[in-house]
Amino acid sequence: MDKVIIFDTTLRDGEQAPGYSMNIEEKVRMARQLESLGVDVIEAGFAIASPGDFEAVRQISAAVSGVTVASLSRALVKDIDAAWNAVKEAARPRIHTFLATSDIHLEHKLRMSRDAALERAVSAVRYARNLCGDVEFSLEDASRTDRDYMCRVVEAVIAAGATTVNLPDTVGYAMPGEMRAMVADVRERVPNISKAVISVHCHDDLGLAVANSLAGVEAGARQVEGCVCGIGERAGNAAIEEVVMAVKTRRDVYRLETGVRTPEIMKTANLLASITGVKTSPSKAIVGANAFTHESGIHQHGVLAAAATYEIMTPESVGVMKTGLVLGKHSGRHAFAGRLAELGYSLDDSDVERLFGEFKKLADKKKTVQDRDIIALVESNEARHAPSPQEWKLKGYIVNTGSGMYSTSCVTLERDGKIVTDSAFGTGPVFAAIRAVEKIVKHAFALEDYQIQAVTERRDALGEVLVKISDATGTYRGRGVSTDIIEGSILSTLDAVNKMLDAGSTSLGTGAASKMQHSFEDDLLSGRTDR
Ligand code: MN
Repeated sequence: MDKVIIFDTTLRDGEQAPGYSMNIEEKVRMARQLESLGVDVIEAGFAIASPGDFEAVRQISAAVSGVTVASLSRALVKDIDAAWNAVKEAARPRIHTFLATSDIHLEHKLRMSRDAALERAVSAVRYARNLCGDVEFSLEDASRTDRDYMCRVVEAVIAAGATTVNLPDTVGYAMPGEMRAMVADVRERVPNISKAVISVHCHDDLGLAVANSLAGVEAGARQVEGCVCGIGERAGNAAIEEVVMAVKTRRDVYRLETGVRTPEIMKTANLLASITGVKTSPSKAIVGANAFTHESGIHQHGVLAAAATYEIMTPESVGVMKTGLVLGKHSGRHAFAGRLAELGYSLDDSDVERLFGEFKKLADKKKTVQDRDIIALVESNEARHAPSPQEWKLKGYIVNTGSGMYSTSCVTLERDGKIVTDSAFGTGPVFAAIRAVEKIVKHAFALEDYQIQAVTERRDALGEVLVKISDATGTYRGRGVSTDIIEGSILSTLDAVNKMLDAGSTSLGTGAASKMQHSFEDDLLSGRTDR
């Protein structure tokens, strides 16, 4: 059967979207999961964009082997060089270079004639192809490009060595019929088209990214670009899990297959949500919490009689776990380790050991421990990584809060065997606790985002706290889980602070950090607060 190549750009187009930025370690974790998912190509970043982007692409290239790793580059020698240097250690490297071809882009953005752009595209592809056997060329804004000119460019870049030619609907403007016609036209009119794979890259500005991608496939495109959960610039890209499940569920229509292991889909979406702190909408197709929930009595009756009455695909096929057995404080290490494996985690013994300790502590506080609790534990860095002695750890705290006056906190932290206590006040208990942490670590930061959510139902639920803090070196996310929301808040702040101090010590002298020192209590008294 014919195959559709799945090109995932979660780490490039997706990561560009506000709220989705990831650090290098998070990108590598995501790339490993995308490899397990079985996508064919990972676009790992835009190597020339920054040293951090370059390093992320390089580390991903080294970390995965069963998947092609691509870096984006403009049609410039220095970009292509950076892209190649970042991916060249990959088992299967690809250079992805692009140039806009629509008149509106040529005129206003590039200030270039059609002929000059064609020449630039050809020389970029030729240059890239001399470095790498796998070269993709994208005609940016293809859906608004003159068709005759498009065919000339496609023919020329294939002659110059492009192995994939991508026809993006960059601005999400095309209708499915137009995408189908564009791909069909190129297939019909470009004489050397059989030497390259046709790709589509669709944006969701009008909610048509998946429909347009599938229309492209119907007309003969054999690579689809998209992101997990459809994240990406503006309204996002095509959601790869939707494209994959459409092709799989409607094999009768497409007669095509993908290399994606669909039971890994849910885990991939969960990892993205967990890393970025952006929750998936409950009604999101395939991976939303309600995607397989039948609420109406008539539907429930039907599904119980025969699932096929209202289910076009099974929850298991996309990795939605049946509510598993519940663990409690009498569950042993063996049962716990088994559950971790069933949830798809392969951890080494020392991590399992540490998590088991956390699990026992939790089981003491909470009658039953559900899968969602275990996932929250594993995903919290606190439990995941053996703390290094250089990291700040929480020893204890007390917070006083009430109405009619400021909240106060006293926090004790430990680092490198040294124990430090300080106190602070604020407009609420979280403010007071975070401010005490800030005073102890002697490093000012701004609180950009704070989210708290109950992991499960009932009053004894774990609270999961996600914070985003920033200083001059960048933005850092932290996660903490606890049955006590103040403890969760301190743990998540420390998680982020430790990452921030680690980044600061490598990229910034201590001088810059200390220059930022100021008292938020001063701000508070003068009416300027960040919370
Ligand atoms: Mn895009």
